[in-house]
Amino acid sequence: MKIPVSEPDLCGNEKKYVMDCLEAGWVSSAGSYVSKFEKKFAEYINSKYATTCSNGTTALHLTLLALDIKNKDEVVLPTLTFVSSANSILYNNAMPVFVDSEIDTWNMDVKKIEDKITDKTKAIMVVHLYGHPVDMDPVLELCKKYDLYLIEDTAEALGSEYKKRKTGSIGDISSFSFYGNKTITTGEGGMITTDDKELIEKINIIKNQGKSPADRYWHDTVGYNYRLTNLQSALGLAQLENIDKFVNKKREIAKYYRDNLEIKGIAHAVEKDYAFNSYWMYSIVLKNNINIKQDEMMKHLERQGVETRGFFHPMHTLPIYSSYYKEKFPIAEKLAKSGINLPSSTKITDDQLDYVCDKIKYIIKKEEWKK
Ligand SMILES: *Cc1c(COP(=O)(O)O)cnc(C)c1O
Repeated sequence: MKIPVSEPDLCGNEKKYVMDCLEAGWVSSAGSYVSKFEKKFAEYINSKYATTCSNGTTALHLTLLALDIKNKDEVVLPTLTFVSSANSILYNNAMPVFVDSEIDTWNMDVKKIEDKITDKTKAIMVVHLYGHPVDMDPVLELCKKYDLYLIEDTAEALGSEYKKRKTGSIGDISSFSFYGNKTITTGEGGMITTDDKELIEKINIIKNQGKSPADRYWHDTVGYNYRLTNLQSALGLAQLENIDKFVNKKREIAKYYRDNLEIKGIAHAVEKDYAFNSYWMYSIVLKNNINIKQDEMMKHLERQGVETRGFFHPMHTLPIYSSYYKEKFPIAEKLAKSGINLPSSTKITDDQLDYVCDKIKYIIKKEEWKK
């Protein structure tokens, strides 16, 4: 038996829509599913515009290109995130400026942002980690006060809400990922949402080889080929039709783990008053008073057929960034060493959830006996 951390759940019209593309011959980036997917996605997020792209990393790259963030401009973001958030800033020769985490939500500590703002700062990039929304009001205030763009990396929080507003509809511009382990998937894929028409028009040109709308082979700017195909959009549209079902299931999984792993040494994912958490990856943090380390717990679980993941390594500890980043971020470092993503697939059964909880309890007990 093997219980995966995550797996695609293709339970709806995926096959039908993909067959439709195959039968019509519209497999590349022209075809009606692209615009259908974009339209439905914008409606769901409640933003004016949405445009597809090839993955969540290119979504971030396009976002920064559209905002004209470049040479030595600074972007403030959490150190505890997936590497693409920071790399997308380097792609434009701009500078990521890291912020430590909150101990309970694991998101960027919004109280520590202002200290990082300089006259080179152009934007704040929030990342709603593992599904919990960032506390946006203080961030919105800072953006207003210092005239900064607000970017939401929403790759892990499709379906989450901050004070009844969908994450990905609150900042100036937001990016999403449809990688195989994300809440909805197109294999590889991404989306950008915004209410700003000028930004979306700019992105549509940049993602499409910088092609001028008036002349196919005229290129005013250096563009990229960051398009999503009709085949992938067909998958995406079918997946989006089941988003409520997926989010409900993720929340059921969260409740199950919370109710069945009431153990002193384990801190659970939270849901703050301002939050509706879509629990992309249900996660726990091993506290100091527990006598087992993250890697030992993960190894034990692996042997029992339970796949897990550790939290991300903080960006400032990766060689790419550590060479010029000397600052320490103790909370992010601590979380990285003690956080574990548990199996969170929408296809997981109650028996499997039971099994995972039993194994965790058993491993902790066994470690206690050893002492
Ligand atoms: C998955 C993810 C991305 C990148 O998405 P890809 O589609 O894999 O390129 C970016 N940011 C965060 C926070 C992610 O989790």
